[in-house]
Amino acid sequence: LEREEPHHFGAGPAQLPTSVLQQAAKDLLNFNNIGLGIGEISHRSKDAKKVIEDAKKHLTELMEIPDTHEVFFLQGGGTTGFSSTASNLAAAYVGKTGEIAPAGYLVTGSWSQKSFEEAKRLHVPAEVIFNSKDYYNGKYGSIPDESQWADKVKGKKFSYVYLCENETVHGVEWPKLPECLTSDPSIEVVADLSSDILSRKIDVSQYGMILAGAQKNIGLAGLTLYIIKKTILEEISKASEDELHKLGLPITPIAFHYPTVVKNDSAYNTIPIFTLHVMDLVFQHLLKKGGVPAQQAENEEKARLLYGALDQYSDFYNIPVEKSCRSKMNVVFTLKKEGLDDKFLKEAGEHKLTGLKGHRSVGGFRASIYNALSLESVQKLVEFVKEFAENNA
Ligand code: PLP
Repeated sequence: LEREEPHHFGAGPAQLPTSVLQQAAKDLLNFNNIGLGIGEISHRSKDAKKVIEDAKKHLTELMEIPDTHEVFFLQGGGTTGFSSTASNLAAAYVGKTGEIAPAGYLVTGSWSQKSFEEAKRLHVPAEVIFNSKDYYNGKYGSIPDESQWADKVKGKKFSYVYLCENETVHGVEWPKLPECLTSDPSIEVVADLSSDILSRKIDVSQYGMILAGAQKNIGLAGLTLYIIKKTILEEISKASEDELHKLGLPITPIAFHYPTVVKNDSAYNTIPIFTLHVMDLVFQHLLKKGGVPAQQAENEEKARLLYGALDQYSDFYNIPVEKSCRSKMNVVFTLKKEGLDDKFLKEAGEHKLTGLKGHRSVGGFRASIYNALSLESVQKLVEFVKEFAENNA
């Protein structure tokens, strides 16, 4: 099974390493020579259990996940992740304190905004701590310095504080977690890492929970991974349904009730085991490559080259994101001259550079340079970006 190496900059589902897909294709037909494909066996079988164990083990090694945290997998995507977060984490706060408190949302783009709206829709008490639009001419593209909003957190009770570490649509990435959150042990930080997981080193102990849909950096659509503090799992279990009902909080559907899923080793219901196996193959691929530090160094170089080219031709290209929070995964840019967008995409296609169209809500272009995008692909795009500017200025 062969293919020409793609140079696909789509935001997701994203390009995966060819070697991973080749192995996955073989395993879909005949896994470990058992005469059946990995998608055809029971999710409770020995082979499936080993896939779950291996995926957990390899992720734990890659992210240096401490013993205080549990890893589990669930059907769904990023949206399932932030929906289920709201009801589970609100319940955890009840289990811990017997009271309710609002969740606090740091809104820096459309995914954190949607996550906040979903919490409200589910009748989970929630408030916006800040919306970055209020600091940047009514647009997403910045993250206000914490000195501008930390006092809204200080001394306040939150069931959890939520942020999206990399806003895929707007190309805005938190450079690091804000100190006013990490220095306060009463705050459980919940973060959506759907589009930057395993792209850089993070300190998992600083998070109450991490969620990540698979289809960008770690695999195929259909599965979400969660890393959660064990104490939060215990607190969710302590909150009875009667108590939640009395407090007007939603009851989490059983398939998304985190303690139930963990108790059943991520197989309370049928886990898409092929999809998890692909995820594990991505983890193994990354381990062989030198782990997160090696990938991070490559990602930094890719981002440096691409932003460098766009900045070099800043009379021609516009980057609507402040330098301090430019995403290293989703590089968003527009052309200053009107009427050239279609030409840019057409000529990029002729160079076999695909997936560059910007999100429909933002327009322009977006080059997603996830882990699987090679330095060579980015170099090809950089050459094209320069050539297009010179030919059309
Ligand atoms: N969160 C982030 C950061 C995303 O980029 C996306 C999708 O692009 C989602 C959540 C939603 O993911 P899904 O479409 O899998 O529900």
